[in-house]
Amino acid sequence: MLALGSFIFALSFALYAVYGGSVSNDSPRPQQQIQISKTASSKEALGTTPTKNGLYEVATPQHLKNNKKDIIEQTITIASGDSLSTVLSSMGISQQDVYRVANARDANSELLRIQPGQTLNVKAEFPEGRLKELTYIQSKLKRTLYERQQDGQFSFVVQLTKPETKQIYKEVTITNSIFVDGIKAGIPQSVLIQLTQIFAWDIDFATDIRKGDSFSLLYEENELEGEVLGTGNIIAANFINIGRSFQTIRYDDGDEFNYYTPDGLSMRKAFIRSPVDFTRISSKFNPNRLHPIFKTSQPHQGVDYAAKSGTPVKAAGAGKVKYVGELKGYGNTIIIEHGQGYSTLYAHLQGFKKGLQANRYIEQGDLIGFVGQTGWATGPHLHFEFRINGIHKDPMTVEIPHDSPMSKDSLKKYLPYARSVMTELSQHYSDAFGQKNEVISKRHATTF
Ligand SMILES: [Zn+2]
Repeated sequence: MLALGSFIFALSFALYAVYGGSVSNDSPRPQQQIQISKTASSKEALGTTPTKNGLYEVATPQHLKNNKKDIIEQTITIASGDSLSTVLSSMGISQQDVYRVANARDANSELLRIQPGQTLNVKAEFPEGRLKELTYIQSKLKRTLYERQQDGQFSFVVQLTKPETKQIYKEVTITNSIFVDGIKAGIPQSVLIQLTQIFAWDIDFATDIRKGDSFSLLYEENELEGEVLGTGNIIAANFINIGRSFQTIRYDDGDEFNYYTPDGLSMRKAFIRSPVDFTRISSKFNPNRLHPIFKTSQPHQGVDYAAKSGTPVKAAGAGKVKYVGELKGYGNTIIIEHGQGYSTLYAHLQGFKKGLQANRYIEQGDLIGFVGQTGWATGPHLHFEFRINGIHKDPMTVEIPHDSPMSKDSLKKYLPYARSVMTELSQHYSDAFGQKNEVISKRHATTF
């Protein structure tokens, strides 16, 4: 790896042989040809022999030789496997100075965590390999300058460049999938992931997305001198899914940034709708179903998610584990109590998360077990039940409570902000999106 580093070093070598240091600039350069008069004394004194053209080759006087100080500037791109020590040594920096700069005064020790692709710019005096200055270019936005002080130690200063943050508007109609159509529209994948996370409590992205669904959003993009350096957060979005419109706004209510509905309700809810990702529903909640094994009328009290054996199962909400173990036809089963009369049940599991026990507290989204087909099951699937005060509810349609609401004071400040952001978002709508949104808004008589 060092060999590769040295190779890159050779390629990106920027050499400025500056004559300076302790020798003043008007001193004669060593090894230069100077014209001298042909007198024996001067010839003897300088120990030279004349060349054909009457010039004399002059050897560097000893006192100049000892003080020869070339400051050389080199730039190197860190390669995989490089360490600060190997890189600086390959540039000829003395071991003592490698140690000193690595332990720079008030060290943030970032220099010890150099990453491939980052750059070091080094100014050093040779032949001693005496480090004068080192610039560690971490990114386009951050560099740290280490400078040698009179006592030989290094001080450093961090230089940050602030990118310009722009708002980007995009609108997508889904014909394939959120990710395929979103990326085609030029939306970075990280933004699309954010989008699915924000709406995860309202939309089951594994099963709810239909051709013709559409979304619009405003998100941040960071630029430096016209170059896109990355994307920031989604500022606001409107997702039209199966004739329903879900709108969200990012807001700092004093503690941290969160996403809220235009009315100020948290997007986060007490439960996620489906405890498994990337599945299809193989059997819906149906109070009058004929049982597939017993062929008798037996209500289906939950939702079945067909998924491969071993697919992770997540806790739908935070709560206390009530039961872990076998439960007749349910096979391996977990029951979680969430408080206020809510409970969820996960059946036919292949196995449980190691260490999961009754009375343990868990968070929403925690891994609890794996899809299987234990108990009375015709194939691998998760049977998921949702109960309120012991009564079975359809997990797909049950009204799920929002997470902790905003304080009244925050809400007062939030509402005018939300209105202005949604107005801004809507000003970008295409005619088609605007009309679609209007039809839904009228039907639901919402503000926006
Ligand atoms: Zn079932």
